[in-house]
Amino acid sequence: MTAPRIEIDFDKIRHNARTLVERLGQRRISVTGVTKAALGSPELGKLLIGAGVSDLGDSRIENIETMRSAGIRGSVTLLRSPMLSQAQRVVEHATASLNTEIDVIRRLSQCAQQVDREHEVILMVELGDLREGIMPGDLEGMVHRTLQLPNIVLRGIGTNLACRHGVTPDAANMDQLSSLATKTEAAFGIRFASVSGGNSANLTWALSGAETGRINDLRLGESILLGCDPLSRKPISGLYTDAFTLVAEVIELKTKPQAPTGELQQSAFGEPTAASGSGATESGAISQCILGIGRQDVDPAGLRAPSGIKLLAATSDHLVVRLAGQFLSVGSEVRFDVGYSALLRAMTSPFVVKVVKSEGTHRSLGRPGLAAPKSYAM
Ligand SMILES: *Cc1c(COP(=O)(O)O)cnc(C)c1O
Repeated sequence: MTAPRIEIDFDKIRHNARTLVERLGQRRISVTGVTKAALGSPELGKLLIGAGVSDLGDSRIENIETMRSAGIRGSVTLLRSPMLSQAQRVVEHATASLNTEIDVIRRLSQCAQQVDREHEVILMVELGDLREGIMPGDLEGMVHRTLQLPNIVLRGIGTNLACRHGVTPDAANMDQLSSLATKTEAAFGIRFASVSGGNSANLTWALSGAETGRINDLRLGESILLGCDPLSRKPISGLYTDAFTLVAEVIELKTKPQAPTGELQQSAFGEPTAASGSGATESGAISQCILGIGRQDVDPAGLRAPSGIKLLAATSDHLVVRLAGQFLSVGSEVRFDVGYSALLRAMTSPFVVKVVKSEGTHRSLGRPGLAAPKSYAM
């Protein structure tokens, strides 16, 4: 089979999604299934809908358009604040979007009027992580202005924690979101359909037995795909953490000195050249192996190598590893577990073939719009 490739086990992802939908359902929280780490794969979108998510979410309008043209009809939410320049596309293809700027919502309203549609808006509130969000004191004013805009439906409010600073969702910030919801509803005599508490980092809080208050939705990507909690990167009990496997091929295998020869300046990526941690000060030769995959295809920091293989360095197109107790030859394949950063980049690289495994069969995951590799694995 061609390499590099990422093998995707849909049965494991389905299990993870169903398990989280069920566990959160017991706490009266619905799941928005997030597809962005898989480039808005329509196959993944359909799988998530089948597993019981109430909504799909993606941060890129391009991905949402891909899902729409593949026939996905239900609610899809744009998770990143729409660009003014993309408002038309957002109104045409996304059911809802997360918003923080009145100029953007005004433009969405104008575009929605032109095509005689409604667009739903969730206002995001800043609760400490300092990424997107309206300052809590400004929420009422934003709600007031949003409610006046034609063809805009205020679906509710939400927040996003953890992504920038690792701020932990807890009773304090979740209670704050709940009371903002209740207070705002009372002030305007309205009822929010959705109070969206956050992303996969909220699961520990949501499943802890804590009072969930008004929170009735979470937007989940990483936990469904990789089965782990993004705050600790620890596995979530009962979920698969190995639904994705990255496979790379050996293109060179030599016995080489550990330490480079010659005067050292910057390497291609500006790192110190003495390969720290690789034992460069020890004398003697090592079994050095190069795999045909690089930083253009994967974030090496998000790779977990199998035992007997140690990552030494990565350049644009090469991953340099040391073999210790693994027998490989040119053409051998090496299989890696991936973390979120490695997954994101591997799924985005047109050079990494995506192969779906489901109920024992293999097929390639088509991706219209992106340059596909010449030979798709089957
Ligand atoms: C990506 C994203 C999510 C999903 O985050 P995970 O950690 O993958 O669950 C949720 N909300 C927003 C706004 C996002 O951008």
